[in-house]
Amino acid sequence: MIRTVLRKTGRGGTALPGTVAMKISRNILSVPAKDMEIVLVTGTNGKTTTCNMIEHALTDGGHDCHRDKSGANLLHGITSDLLCDTNWLGKPNSHYAVLEVDEAALKQVAPLIHPKAIVVTNLFTDQADRFGSVENTRKEIKKGILLSPDSVLVLNAQDTQSAALALGVPNKVIWYGLDGSVGEQGDVDLSDAGKCPKCGSAYEYDYHIYAHLGGFRCPKCGYAHHEPDVTVTSIDKMDTSGSTIHLRTDGKEEEVFVALPAVYNVYNAAACVGAIKAMGLPASEAIQSLATVQSAFGRMETFELGGNVLQMILVKNPAGCNQAFTYVTSFGDPFNAVLCLNNRTGDGHDFSWIENTDYEKLCADPHLQKLYVCGDRAQDLYDRLLRAGAHQENMELVTDYSKLVDELEQETCTTFLLPNYTAMMELRMALSPKTGNKEFWE
Ligand SMILES: [Zn+2]
Repeated sequence: MIRTVLRKTGRGGTALPGTVAMKISRNILSVPAKDMEIVLVTGTNGKTTTCNMIEHALTDGGHDCHRDKSGANLLHGITSDLLCDTNWLGKPNSHYAVLEVDEAALKQVAPLIHPKAIVVTNLFTDQADRFGSVENTRKEIKKGILLSPDSVLVLNAQDTQSAALALGVPNKVIWYGLDGSVGEQGDVDLSDAGKCPKCGSAYEYDYHIYAHLGGFRCPKCGYAHHEPDVTVTSIDKMDTSGSTIHLRTDGKEEEVFVALPAVYNVYNAAACVGAIKAMGLPASEAIQSLATVQSAFGRMETFELGGNVLQMILVKNPAGCNQAFTYVTSFGDPFNAVLCLNNRTGDGHDFSWIENTDYEKLCADPHLQKLYVCGDRAQDLYDRLLRAGAHQENMELVTDYSKLVDELEQETCTTFLLPNYTAMMELRMALSPKTGNKEFWE
């Protein structure tokens, strides 16, 4: 009966069927979940891409895998989504599921579905008006972990905040990370590192990867980062199509192609391998699949327009934005950048994070040709870019997305599109008639 109600009320990203079903039983999510093996993915940046990678690894390995495509990551939306994918007896259509879960919703979702694995991508300051601080985000996730003692945790070994989640819990942990020799990515920012959770001292680092990720240790009590179980030992080559890396796990090291570029996607790939291991499946299933993984909606998504490549990178906080700049400034050929900033509900109303973002790095790149600025807060972003050293003669403030698309069509080099969330939706909508990329519900 519930299933019929759900089908009648439809899907396409609405949490309404879940709300209806939860009126009937608050714990209804546990019904389909009890027959499934589920991996939950949470953290600040990279949730959607990591989910995509894990889903692709499972389906590529011949397993049935449920994956929500609507972007629902709160309890009601996840409930709707899982209940809609059941047969007439209420049994799930897939044995596996990969679910993206909001950091604060983990404590509601996890106890109902008993996930086999909980993956945390990383923890950075994000949407400051929501959790207040990165420590508060960590506390929210910890509440969920404490309710899931049997889940295997898949944690970033070089993120001080993620690593602290393993303290005082009985869960088994699979650590993933980059070898120290992979080297610094040029945007060290320790503002999110926090203090040693055992004695309160400031961390010292043996090496840095980016932001507060690196070889941290406490000089006073000896608490330090774990050696990863899944280790990226080198990044050999990187271009807009992806990265060739060496990856070591279970004592075996091999060359792997990750079909999504940027160092943060190398971390996401290592997290995916960790998740597959946590599910009790061979790591080789994940490793082989990484060469054919496709970008998630707006995350390194490529478009063709007027004979040129456009690549869209969703940016929503300083750490993610700085990593995107590291990627585009390593491109080495002339390029344009489109920066779009909104501050609607889906983005967080507080956009002061642009003050802590390294636009100076982007503006100093001699390959940067033209800088387009748009979105509701275009003027604020334009002013910030001028302070960061951008040249007014190379900048254009555009208020209309279809005009922007017309102008991009006339461009003669690669363009990187760097919108935040709701701006990405608008920009994509304006692009899709000319580029043919599908909308997310298709
Ligand atoms: Zn300490």
